[in-house]
Amino acid sequence: MLSNIRVVLVGTSHPGNIGSTARAMKTMGLSNLYLAEPRVEPDGHSIALAAGASDILKHLVKVDSLAEAIADCCLVIATSARSRTLDWPMLEPREAGVRLATEALNGPVAIVFGRENHGLSNEELQQCTYHVAIPANPEYSSLNLAQAVQIICYETRIAHLAQKEVAEEELTEYPLAADQERFFAHLETTLLSTGFIIKNHPGQVMMKLRRLFSRARIESQEMNILRGILTSIEKVTGSKDK
Ligand code: SAH
Repeated sequence: MLSNIRVVLVGTSHPGNIGSTARAMKTMGLSNLYLAEPRVEPDGHSIALAAGASDILKHLVKVDSLAEAIADCCLVIATSARSRTLDWPMLEPREAGVRLATEALNGPVAIVFGRENHGLSNEELQQCTYHVAIPANPEYSSLNLAQAVQIICYETRIAHLAQKEVAEEELTEYPLAADQERFFAHLETTLLSTGFIIKNHPGQVMMKLRRLFSRARIESQEMNILRGILTSIEKVTGSKDK
C-alpha cells in the first residue's frame, strides 16, 4: 500500500532538500520519489542529507512536468504554505493522510510539494484535487520543503497504521450471540454444581459475570478455553448436565 504513495517535488532548487526529503520519506516507510522539472540534480550533498535513504535517490523518477508525474494517479493532493490563494477543496494534514492511505489501496496517489522560493503555480495547484496547508504560525507559515514532506508523510503513516489495526481487528473472530448464550448457560450450570450459585437465591452473579465478559470482549478462541475449563470442573464435581 505505501508503495502506491508517491511524493512529487516540483522545481526543487536545493540538492540538500532532495536528500532530506528521501530521509523523511524512508523514516515513514515511503519510497516512491518523483522530481518534476527539478532545477538541480541530486548530488553529494543530497546523498549526505539522505543518510541511509540514498536508495530512494537511486530509484527516483525524473520527469519534465507535474502533469507527467501524476498522470496515472487516482488522487493528487497539493501542499501549499499559502492557504486559500485559490478557493479550492482544502484538507487538514490529518485528513490528507487518511485520504492518501485509503485511496492508495486502489492505485497510485500523489502528494505534491512546490518550489522553495515560490511554491506551486496556480496552474499546478489546479491540477490537484485537494490542497493541504500545514496550520503553522500565521506570521511565519512557510516550512522547509523536507520538513513539510516529513509532516505529511508522518500523517500518512499514522493513517496507514490505524488502517492495519482495524484490518487485524476484523480478522479476530468473536463468538456468535447463540454461542455466548450456550457459554453462559454452561457457566451457570457449573456454578450451580459447585454451589457457588444457590438455586433459590441466585442473586445477580450471572448478570455481573455477563457484564464482566462483555467488557473483556471475549474472542471465540478464548470462549472455547473457558468452555474447556467448565467441562474440566464438571469432571471433578461429577455434574454432566450442561
Ligand atoms: N514561499 C513559498 C513557500 C514554499 S516552501 C510559498 O509561498 O508557497 C516549499 C514547499 O514546502 C511548498 O511549496 C509546500 O509544498 C511546502 N510547505 C511549506 N510550508 C508549508 C505549509 N505550511 N503547509 C503546506 N505545505 C508547506
